[in-house]
Amino acid sequence: MKESQIEAHLVKRVKALGGEVRKVQWIGRRGAPDRLVMLPTSPHRHVWAAGTIWVELKAPGLKAETHQVREHERMRCMGQRVVVIDSIEAVEKLLA
Ligand SMILES: [Mg+2]
Repeated sequence: MKESQIEAHLVKRVKALGGEVRKVQWIGRRGAPDRLVMLPTSPHRHVWAAGTIWVELKAPGLKAETHQVREHERMRCMGQRVVVIDSIEAVEKLLA
């Protein structure tokens, strides 16, 4: 399976939940996650935890590159939720 197929599934599922998805690229810096997922607030979700998720997508079995891992860590230190997703199942788990 290709990364793009997993990405398409993520976009479809987020939209089905009433959320928004954006492609992401930093200007003048490498390592931005592929997508920003925004989920609507609901009584069933903790707003800060579930509202905004940065997602790096990978083909099954592939890991984030070293420079990506460094950027993810910097972002997490600033309270951001950053996940690496490499399967359809992982998309389902993230949005469950
Ligand atoms: Mg990627």
